[in-house]
Amino acid sequence: MERLILFSFLLISSLLLAQHQDKVDFTHTEVAIQINPDAREVVAEVIYTFEVLGKVDSVFLDARNMDFFSIRLDNKKVKFNNNGKTLSIYKKLKKGKTYALILRYKAKPKQAVYFVGYEDDIDGNEQIWTQGQGKYTSHWLPSIDSMEEKIEFDLDITFDSTYKVVANGKLQNIKEAEGLKTWSYDMQKPMSSYLLAFAIGEYDKKELTSASGIPIENYYYPTDHQKVESTYRYTKQIFDFIEDEIGVPYPWQNYKQLPVKDFLYAGMENTGATIFSDSYVIDPTAFNDKNYVNVNAHELAHQWFGNLVTEKDGNHHWLHEGFATYYAYLAEKEIFGDEYFYWKLYDSAKQLHELSKKGEGEALTNPKASSFTFYEKGAWALLMLREEIGGAGFKEGMIRYLKKHQFKNVTIQDFLSEMELVSSQDLTDFKELWLNSSIFPFEKAKEHLIGNSIAVNDLLKLKWELTTSLEDNQKVIQRYWDATTSEALKARIILEYHKSLSMDFIRKAFDSNSLKIRQALATTFDKIPPALMAEFESLLNDKSYITIENALYKLWVSFPKDRTMYLDKTKNIIGLPNRNVRMLWLLFAVLTKDYGTTDLKEAFMTQLFEYTSPKYDMDTRQTAFGLINGIFKFSDQNLLDLINATIHHSWQFKKFARNMLDELLKEDDQRKRIINLSKQLKDDELRYINTKLNSQ
Ligand SMILES: [Zn+2]
Repeated sequence: MERLILFSFLLISSLLLAQHQDKVDFTHTEVAIQINPDAREVVAEVIYTFEVLGKVDSVFLDARNMDFFSIRLDNKKVKFNNNGKTLSIYKKLKKGKTYALILRYKAKPKQAVYFVGYEDDIDGNEQIWTQGQGKYTSHWLPSIDSMEEKIEFDLDITFDSTYKVVANGKLQNIKEAEGLKTWSYDMQKPMSSYLLAFAIGEYDKKELTSASGIPIENYYYPTDHQKVESTYRYTKQIFDFIEDEIGVPYPWQNYKQLPVKDFLYAGMENTGATIFSDSYVIDPTAFNDKNYVNVNAHELAHQWFGNLVTEKDGNHHWLHEGFATYYAYLAEKEIFGDEYFYWKLYDSAKQLHELSKKGEGEALTNPKASSFTFYEKGAWALLMLREEIGGAGFKEGMIRYLKKHQFKNVTIQDFLSEMELVSSQDLTDFKELWLNSSIFPFEKAKEHLIGNSIAVNDLLKLKWELTTSLEDNQKVIQRYWDATTSEALKARIILEYHKSLSMDFIRKAFDSNSLKIRQALATTFDKIPPALMAEFESLLNDKSYITIENALYKLWVSFPKDRTMYLDKTKNIIGLPNRNVRMLWLLFAVLTKDYGTTDLKEAFMTQLFEYTSPKYDMDTRQTAFGLINGIFKFSDQNLLDLINATIHHSWQFKKFARNMLDELLKEDDQRKRIINLSKQLKDDELRYINTKLNSQ
């Protein structure tokens, strides 16, 4: 998985609770499901084949809030108990025998399956998709939550024939009847149930083939066909690089990537079928601000680390996230160069060091560590292990580890044992320093960076000189500036030291024509000095929406006389997927006295206010709520949209909306308005509002 923003989730501890049945081995599952979106319902038949490894008189499946119509073991009625969490089957099972368990059921999943776009009047934006990790597949399929049970799943899904249906595995055929299509997907290898997935929506796809012959399918909304290249840029390069770098062939039949709206994370590595947030569906300009490359590589690396070999439990989570992050960094190094790689490592080392100094460092063997620790410290640990035993041994050990444990579960010790074997080294010290200790070994990391990156080394030397030297700051900086070819270093100098630099220096920096340096310049100065007016105006032409947003904001604030000109210049720009430039533009267009007629202003206002609607993605909505609330008063529709957001499936967005609503409820007039609007609320919205109104 890849986090969207930094947070520590409760997933690990919940995975620890899943039980493992060691006397029964589930080998194969055939699933045939039909989805009824209006009722938010899944109706299915599933056939489990399992082998009995030792005499036992019951077997269970995790099954949450399901209604079973029929439960048959080897085609006979069987005693069972369904307690709403697990389905237990009671039968004296014989060692060595294989059984078939056939279940027919209905479920209304409260989580793990998400219905998006069904509440608005837009045609074609409907989506249904799953998220297994941290959410439990057993909400829609009776299955085994324990990651230790690996099963070969074949999925048949029946749905309205106008939509595309994607699931793990290879598409075998599509049968059409009476406006419905049944899509049959086949897996050939076993996987843990949290990696099972499907997604339904209006999609087209672009197909590629990896150097090794693996079919890669990149999905997109038909309306986004012009963003396909920039969204999926470098996909084949990433795939070929990672497969080659790991040294073990990609383990699955094919690979698919599919964006969905309001996804819970940045991306999720379902086996052969990565689902990711459509906030990564971008045009070529946005590529310079925020692109899919890192998530693309990260989820792909999980196809080996997580999917092919799976942690035994949360104590070994490093083997998933640390490894996926490490290989994603290497892929970025391959594409964007050494500099990019070492600056990223420098930033993560600094942050890890800060946490460590505050006593908030965490061990990688701590199952409750934050995702930041698992990802960033995890990648560092692997990088330093490679340093310790050398590239060739590292690769050989990795291949041995993957081959030995493929399609099985692993522990950190399983991995270290292979590395010890190939290197003939005792890795006890490494384990202590990098995995068991909660302290981040910053000096070791720094040493590595200094030895490998001239630019990072220069920054550290510059910082040192500025604190110790008696020379004028600008002179010191100038020396470093002239001596380096690193744009990233120059950008950092601007960010950190622009206050000690002369106008002349800054103006020359603008002239560099480097997008990176200019991105940094756009963030400097809250109020633009008149001497730099022309330079800041030139930023409005840059190929970066963040730069344009910063420049528009600062120019509008700093030079009131030219507001109309700035607005005219930027009136056709939408910006990032969260419409950053457009929303700021609408706000300024409304606030600029002599811009547009009263009618036009009204239209701008309407447009801005509309962005809080569930029609839009949660990033756009969140930005709009923030902007409108800060300056105007919410319309009734805004308030209804906000209440709607308090029950959203993304907990970050939900939390944002709930906090904002709490603030509004403190104001008497807003509280009255909200009470008046209650009549228009849907059941679940009303339930939430009532708890709020009654508690205060
Ligand atoms: Zn991940």
